[in-house]
Amino acid sequence: MRVMEDFIAYDGQCISCGRKFPITSLQGGHFVPASRGGFTLLFHPTNVNAECQGCNGFDQMHLIGYARNLDKRYGKGTADELIRIKNQATAKEWSAQRYLDEAAICRNRYLELVP
Ligand SMILES: [Zn+2]
Repeated sequence: MRVMEDFIAYDGQCISCGRKFPITSLQGGHFVPASRGGFTLLFHPTNVNAECQGCNGFDQMHLIGYARNLDKRYGKGTADELIRIKNQATAKEWSAQRYLDEAAICRNRYLELVP
């Protein structure tokens, strides 16, 4: 869902490198990986953005551009706020039901965007 929203809002621009891609080449890239940010950041609207496969999968330095562009898109301090949330998060924040509810919200939002 975030990839589709970003593709529409930012014309296919990768959050990290700034280059434009077709939607099939974009992935939902996390600024703070789910394994480190707990469930709070798994679907967080500023933590997940359209990112090209090269940046998301192979570029270890992509977070420099990612952080810079987060602050441009959402306001200064956005990247720092995500790191603050990560430092407070625990993997046990969400119940299984809440995880399923959030996944259903994302699925429904996606279906609204894709007729
Ligand atoms: Zn990229």
